Amino acid sequence: MKVGIMGGTFDPIHMGHLMAAEAVKDVYKLDEIWFMPSHIPPHKHAAGATGEQRLEMTNLATEEYGDYRVLDVEIVRGGVSYTIDTMEIIRRQHPDINLYFIIGADMVNYLSRWERIEDLTKLVTFIGVGRPGFELHLDDLPDFLQEHVLHADMPQVEISSTGIRRRLAKGRSVRFMVPKAVLDYITRSGLYAAEPR
Ligand code: ATP
Ligand code: MG
Repeated sequence: MKVGIMGGTFDPIHMGHLMAAEAVKDVYKLDEIWFMPSHIPPHKHAAGATGEQRLEMTNLATEEYGDYRVLDVEIVRGGVSYTIDTMEIIRRQHPDINLYFIIGADMVNYLSRWERIEDLTKLVTFIGVGRPGFELHLDDLPDFLQEHVLHADMPQVEISSTGIRRRLAKGRSVRFMVPKAVLDYITRSGLYAAEPR
């Protein structure tokens, strides 16, 4: 069994995340994608939505698809989410699964600075996807990473959670940038709005 892990803040989850996951699943013939919202990523601080809200939106975005699952381990564990800690747990729980970790080009450029990255490469194979504004330069990766990072082509999607939060704060539409169930949740809860709705 081959599983792709899609980690992120998902504040909120959007079509770019979903299209990246599906493209990688398709190109590498993965059996499932596990979406994994992080608690407090080491490189980020103020999140707009709570962990529970980000988890809920991730569930809403994926629940119709039998080959998509959501992992709540990092939110439940709390604290700073280091991918290596989580992957050691997943590996112990599922010793026979081949794990692929999906990352956008903006993250690929930071890979060599991830916590215990050498240990992490023994547990997962990374798959990088391009992202508008961030080209994939796998040749520039340090030697020890080269063989551990693959790439997948995907239709380029110029959507980011930051852009979505900004649009919502200005009262602008994000319809079709996020799944309908996620948009309904955001509207219902007044998330990301500058003024309470
Ligand atoms: P923010 O603007 O808050 O950082 P984001 O849109 O970058 O949000 P994250 O939750 O930070 O979303 O990203 C999770 C993962 O998804 C990262 O590996 C990121 O590179 C990737 N990703 C996000 N948006 C896209 C996109 N439009 N195309 C491809 N990959 C993406
Ligand atoms: Mg990001």
